[in-house]
Amino acid sequence: MTVRVAIDLALDRLFDYTVPEELEKKLAVGQLLSVPFGHRTARGFAMEMVERECDAKRTLKDPNETLSDPKRPYALKPISAIVDEEPFFSTRLLELVRALAAYTAAPVESVLKAAVPAAVVRPNARAKELYFISPALAPVPVPMTARRQWLYDQIVRLGGGWMQQLCRELKTTSASLKEMGRLGLVTIAPRQKRRDPLGNMRRILPTKSLPLNDEQTAALGVISAATKPVLLFGVTGSGKTEVYLQAIAKELESGRGAIVMVPEISLTPQTVRRFASRFGDKVAVLHSALSDGERYDEWHRIRSGAARVVVGPRSAVFAPVRDLGLVVVDEEHDPSYKQDDNPRYNARDAAVLRGRLEGARVVLGSATPSLETWRNVAVGKYDLAEMKCRAGAGTLPAVRLVDMSAPQRGDSSGAIFSQDLLDAVKLRLDRHEQTILFLNRRGYSRSVTCAVCGATVDCPECSLPYTYHRADDCCRCHICGGWILTPKVCPACGAPALQYKGIGTQRAEAALAKCFPNAKILRMDADSTSRKNSHDDILSAFRRGEADVLLGTQMIAKGLDFPNVTLVGVLNADSSLNMPDFRAAERTFQLLAQVSGRAGRAELPGEVIIQSYDPSAPAIVAAARGDFAAFAKDELSVREECFFPPFCHLAAVNLRSKDLKLVSSWADMFAKSLMKVKGLTVSEAVPSALEKADGWYRWQVVVRAPSVSTIVKAWRWLLAQRPPPAALRAAIDVDAFSLT
Ligand code: ADP
Ligand code: ZN
Repeated sequence: MTVRVAIDLALDRLFDYTVPEELEKKLAVGQLLSVPFGHRTARGFAMEMVERECDAKRTLKDPNETLSDPKRPYALKPISAIVDEEPFFSTRLLELVRALAAYTAAPVESVLKAAVPAAVVRPNARAKELYFISPALAPVPVPMTARRQWLYDQIVRLGGGWMQQLCRELKTTSASLKEMGRLGLVTIAPRQKRRDPLGNMRRILPTKSLPLNDEQTAALGVISAATKPVLLFGVTGSGKTEVYLQAIAKELESGRGAIVMVPEISLTPQTVRRFASRFGDKVAVLHSALSDGERYDEWHRIRSGAARVVVGPRSAVFAPVRDLGLVVVDEEHDPSYKQDDNPRYNARDAAVLRGRLEGARVVLGSATPSLETWRNVAVGKYDLAEMKCRAGAGTLPAVRLVDMSAPQRGDSSGAIFSQDLLDAVKLRLDRHEQTILFLNRRGYSRSVTCAVCGATVDCPECSLPYTYHRADDCCRCHICGGWILTPKVCPACGAPALQYKGIGTQRAEAALAKCFPNAKILRMDADSTSRKNSHDDILSAFRRGEADVLLGTQMIAKGLDFPNVTLVGVLNADSSLNMPDFRAAERTFQLLAQVSGRAGRAELPGEVIIQSYDPSAPAIVAAARGDFAAFAKDELSVREECFFPPFCHLAAVNLRSKDLKLVSSWADMFAKSLMKVKGLTVSEAVPSALEKADGWYRWQVVVRAPSVSTIVKAWRWLLAQRPPPAALRAAIDVDAFSLT
């Protein structure tokens, strides 16, 4: 028997080994094996069993094919050992891994690596064992001192305990306890001590199911009856979480498990508490802040079936839950579900795939669904459940749009605050209520904007803002590759007022402090939160009422719930709208809808003020009305017309090198070669928006096609034809989210 093994070396190749007879019966696909590799021992996962008589003569025809080096028909080595007889992957999970590797054009090993925590696979990973002391059931009569009798009685009362803990709590020593063990009063044996990330949270009061309102009942009905993935489209506060909880409870009753995926940023103690207080010890959490030990123990509790509900960020899609009945993806539109490093998978799409492979229900929840998902509903691939009203306290806030074109501005220091917004802030200060002010950060992608009329300089072919490139003072379109020299005056109003940078949070803070010298302002952006915990510290301070105004970037947009906040201001709604990104309107709608959801969560009514140069832009108008359907209809027609997702798949081919000539000429060659492939729409090669980072020059080619397989096939073909030199790094980002 021969087994094909994936070794963690990112060689995009599997290796074959023979199986010694004594291991044949025990060997199973998905197990972690230890194998000889060169002069050392490596670890790898058993991917499949193969007959290999004639394999050695085969040659590699299809670049998708992975087999042990075909040109060297050498004698195979035997595997050394089976590290753990319990497989790490079920056959269906392996299927998922393979499918994602194929879809993202990533090596299978890289997907395996993303799928199981390093803390679980590492050679020295193990459960923690400590000495546990239990009272002997029928202790033999021995001479008892008063002290010893007391100790014994205490241990009986406590039902035993960890050695260390008993020493501490009963003020005794391990020597005395060991002596009691020797006398037969107690037994001392090593026992696994669970490292529990929820710790004290396990002790919180259990909650019962809430009686559902009509919309929730209908939604749960749709989910229970569905044979397709369900989009749970519910406004902020409509009680989606309660629906998830009750859908999960149903699965548990029928003996099945569930996975709940949330964006890492919403994986707060509040979120976890809602699941832990309903399902107690059946809940396991997986997230980046766990210690290796906690991660090891939680993962093993999932695999053993002790934990039935997993809450975690994107990697939770791979959790080895047995008899999976339901996968929930909360905030399904969130960009953090897309991994921006190898393997560049989208965990929301992976969840849909896993559901299909395992026959599990899939629920995608959002107040602002992605247009991909919305379209899947429209064409009947997904079912829809809708919830339009808030379930608990609070009403949706009133939203006001303020025109920021020159004459309306209130402050003299530049276009930061309108008089309307300043008046509204003043009112909150007088009433001792709190305000959140939100400023969009622009990141690397810079568009060219007019400071007078707010217009952007756009590519006429693609109707998208050009990206400004400082190196050669050019405006480039990353979709088609077209470019122009940066104009001197605004093409719309003629003012010589074009600018390339947005307003920073620090400048906004200074301007606000000037208007309200007595207001206490907290700023939250990448700079003010670089210290560990500073993110939480700032939010807690604001929650305790230590400041009047919280001013920040996207970071403050989601998941936060402050009862005393009655005003939310968006300083520059256009800034995200003007991004040279075809999803700019969608992102803007999502951000505005989410930010608006921050106001009026409790008893106090909320107000939202959105400042914009272009208050008639469809995304802004629809966001102010909270009308997702209208926005989606409008935006989808634009996407269809311009051949953008979800009407095509878009991939970014990213090339990097320390040698500018090398990277530009290869990018050009790649673009020209891909242009020859039928069915692909390919851009000219362009320098990335971030042209150089850490000494690496970055170039990009954007490829679009109706299907991903067309793109991936062409990519594999290209790499096989022209393997890039060592000095060049080439990668493809399928269904890319950002084109930086
Ligand atoms: P979403 O996830 O849709 O934003 P949440 O699940 O956070 O909404 O619910 C918002 C609030 O409404 C929460 O405080 C929740 O406890 C409350 N809530 C949800 N469902 C009900 C219900 N059926 N009856 C009463 N309150 C509810
Ligand atoms: Zn263009």
